[in-house]
Amino acid sequence: LANELGVSRITVKNAYTNLESDGVVYTREGSGTYVSPPIPDLGVRPPIQPATWPLWQMEVEDDYAIEPAPPYLSPSDTIAFIGVGDPREFPLKEFARTVREVFDHDGIEALEYGGLHAGYPPLRETIAHILASQGIAARPGEVLVTGGSQQALALVCQALLKPGDTVLVEKPTYNFALELFRSLKLKITGIPVDSQGMQVEYLEPVLQKQHPRLIYTIPVFQNPSGMCMSISRRRQLLELAARYNVPILEDDFVSDLRYEGRSLPAIKSLDPGGQVIYTGTFSKMLMPGLRIGYLLADGPIFDRLLRLKWVQDLATSNLMQHVLDTYVTVGRYQSHVRRSTRLYRKRRDAMQMAIRRYLPAGVTYAVPHGGLFLWLRLPEGMTCTELLPKAMHQGVEFSPGTRYFPDPDEGLPFIRLNFATHTPEEIDEGIRRLGKAMRDA
Ligand code: PMP
Repeated sequence: LANELGVSRITVKNAYTNLESDGVVYTREGSGTYVSPPIPDLGVRPPIQPATWPLWQMEVEDDYAIEPAPPYLSPSDTIAFIGVGDPREFPLKEFARTVREVFDHDGIEALEYGGLHAGYPPLRETIAHILASQGIAARPGEVLVTGGSQQALALVCQALLKPGDTVLVEKPTYNFALELFRSLKLKITGIPVDSQGMQVEYLEPVLQKQHPRLIYTIPVFQNPSGMCMSISRRRQLLELAARYNVPILEDDFVSDLRYEGRSLPAIKSLDPGGQVIYTGTFSKMLMPGLRIGYLLADGPIFDRLLRLKWVQDLATSNLMQHVLDTYVTVGRYQSHVRRSTRLYRKRRDAMQMAIRRYLPAGVTYAVPHGGLFLWLRLPEGMTCTELLPKAMHQGVEFSPGTRYFPDPDEGLPFIRLNFATHTPEEIDEGIRRLGKAMRDA
């Protein structure tokens, strides 16, 4: 046949293989290839339907409004002021060495599930030590290790809230907390933020009228504003939350990254009762790929959170918990934090200098004393949605302010710049490009 058709034998063989895998022909060993009998027509069948019972106690809508993906891909020469730390600074060699050490010392034990759903006990102790050094008295038994702090946020919502309940947030706030709350069909009320953090004076009427079931706050180097909540506001917030019996979820995602000034006590450390659930993460100080965070809670709420965590994923990676614990206890974590602090402080300063040099005078911002972000208000009349395509065209990317507000339109005059992800030279070039884009806009 191949000769007759004037094609190679391999082409013919491939054609037979394709026909056979499509079910058009079948082969009988030693006999030949035959045309398959016709496939019986079973008619049009309905697609498989998902079950309709509630997912745990929450009913999650499949089609809640997920923010659409941007209509572009960052080209490789784009300077993208987005993301968390600089991946080029991840402690790859030290971490690889620690993995090796864990295999040598802990062997297959690190490859089991691990005995406790709440986390690897030595790591829970290590986390309690880290917290104690920040003035938060935590017993290891109150620490629940989670798959990043994002899981901690989700667990808290699932343990405390039901669809239709109201959650109070800062405005602006962390975009994936907003996405989480939306996915769980919570009502979201924003309390504005200024240079002293959440403007707690607006809280009481909202507590009276809306009866929220949770207050979510990022009091240190807030994402995205970079601001810290003052001590007096922390006290007022705690006092109001206790009076109206609303739990506080304190998200401390980056407080170790302080460039100047004195750290303020965590709200959790001011809490005499069990009003505050505290969450932390190793994503920003170390690497997000670890997927290790934790929460701190006590009493019956701890048990409920633990049960939820257990049925959802059995446990956080035992291997990574062993590695992280070793990494911290031998002192590598602390020196990495010191290194990152020195590095990112320089980058923050470089970004400020470049902003003064290249951006129009109408741009305003407050300088954060730590963290990762500069939050810029654009010149009068300019919007982040109009600026973004122009910036992409110039080869620079930022995170638009619309992502960070319960009502996205309120974010139109803002952009968030991550100053940690690039070197001072790259920052200078990126902000120069941003200046060009602003002139275009
Ligand atoms: N909280 C805040 C404020 C964040 O910015 C992030 C991640 N960007 C998280 C929580 C979740 O981090 P992870 O799950 O990686 O710990």
